[in-house]
Amino acid sequence: MEKSQPKITIIGAGVSGLTAALTLQNAGYKSTLYDANSFIGGRVNSLIKNGLILDQGFQVMLDAYPAVQEFLDIEALKLRKFVPGSLIFNGRRTYRLGDPSRDYSFFWSTLFAGVGSLKDKWLVFSLSRKLKQKSLQQVFASPEKSTLTYLQEFGFSHQMISSFFTPFYAGIFLETELATSSRMFEFVFKMFTEGSAAIPAGGMKAIPEQLASKLTAGSIQLNQKISAVLGNEITLENGEKFLSDYTIVAAPAGDIVPNLPDEMMPWHHVTVLYFETDHTGFDEAIIGLVTNEEVVINNFHFLQDVFENHRIVISVSVIKKHQFTDQQLVERVIKELREETGIKASEFIQLFHIKKALPQLHSLNYCMTPSETQLTEHLFLAGDHLSNASLNAAMLNGKAAAQAVISKIESSVLL
Ligand SMILES: Cc1cc2nc3c(=O)[nH]c(=O)nc-3n(C[C@H](O)[C@H](O)[C@H](O)COP(=O)(O)OP(=O)(O)OC[C@H]3O[C@@H](n4cnc5c(N)ncnc54)[C@H](O)[C@@H]3O)c2cc1C
Repeated sequence: MEKSQPKITIIGAGVSGLTAALTLQNAGYKSTLYDANSFIGGRVNSLIKNGLILDQGFQVMLDAYPAVQEFLDIEALKLRKFVPGSLIFNGRRTYRLGDPSRDYSFFWSTLFAGVGSLKDKWLVFSLSRKLKQKSLQQVFASPEKSTLTYLQEFGFSHQMISSFFTPFYAGIFLETELATSSRMFEFVFKMFTEGSAAIPAGGMKAIPEQLASKLTAGSIQLNQKISAVLGNEITLENGEKFLSDYTIVAAPAGDIVPNLPDEMMPWHHVTVLYFETDHTGFDEAIIGLVTNEEVVINNFHFLQDVFENHRIVISVSVIKKHQFTDQQLVERVIKELREETGIKASEFIQLFHIKKALPQLHSLNYCMTPSETQLTEHLFLAGDHLSNASLNAAMLNGKAAAQAVISKIESSVLL
């Protein structure tokens, strides 16, 4: 029997809003997504420039994320996986450090790497064992402290923290103090040890595109900024108004819904630069870390696809705060790449400043329950910022908000 169709509106066609729409559709309910941008995917986007696929910010999909396994056809994404380790450049020497339990080729190079002591390497192994045994629910129920305090209390040396954990996790948390919650550290560390970090062949934007491709045509309205949600009434930026029976705001809602605390939410920022290089790339897909505290480069990697005319492209992330103009930053990064890693950038391609990359969150949870997403009789919230800054949380919170709408509709039909 066809289900009665209430009007369901989703504000935000990022990964969270798309997952909400898919969950509703799978249960037989239509929804319409509105996004202020001219593209879907929100913070997961890639620019195609002169045949190159340039992600707007270095981010990886961890294939161990439960939500990724639930909502994505991973095979169709044709993942380009990174090896489970990093190359660490300290200006004079390069060390190859990684997880020998997942890639045996890391065994000797890790054992003899001049990064951390033997005790540090043993501690990495025992941390990995400890977190394998801990469920995700237990991770997010653990006492919260900063990642730095957590690592110090676990017994890691100052050198191991500054030469490996700081650049590696700064590249993920987008902050260099390791002030991010230890729950996020445990979560990410666990996901790294239980799967691979990867980028789809079509760039990160292939993820929202795959989600959107499963939705009924015409259900996404782009270039449509919502300026207010008051009760059942939704106002577009152009002044038009319409009514919605159920609304999911799959983005920080403080600007459009009155009396919400996330209005002034602080964000971490990152700048990513792309260059063509004369280098042939490394023999493996690996993340490079630069440990010199004087430099602005934090991490870099060669794009795994070699483009037309054998073009080899490198992506560099800058996380530290600086006062450089774009032109000065480009010159500085080229110089640092040469001096710290020996890589010669031959041509600047693109620079992205991502001002609102990751929300700065405290008191993290794994994901919301459906009832926690409900704000009023007809209004529901989703988005990563409600739980933890990850694709996993974005998807699970989208799903939870959709489930809450579904149970609201179905319980009102029974009355
Ligand atoms: C540089 C960078 C690196 C990252 N690295 C990783 C990583 O390695 N691994 C990982 O798991 N995650 C990573 N993330 C985080 C991940 O991208 C996010 O968790 C996820 O994309 C959040 O999805 P979302 O749908 O909750 O929010 P968003 O993607 O922000 O989507 C919200 C959408 O709502 C729209 N919107 C907002 N307000 C309005 C309005 N008033 N009207 C209409 N539309 C509106 C926006 O345009 C946007 O499209 C990274 C993010 C960035 C930027």
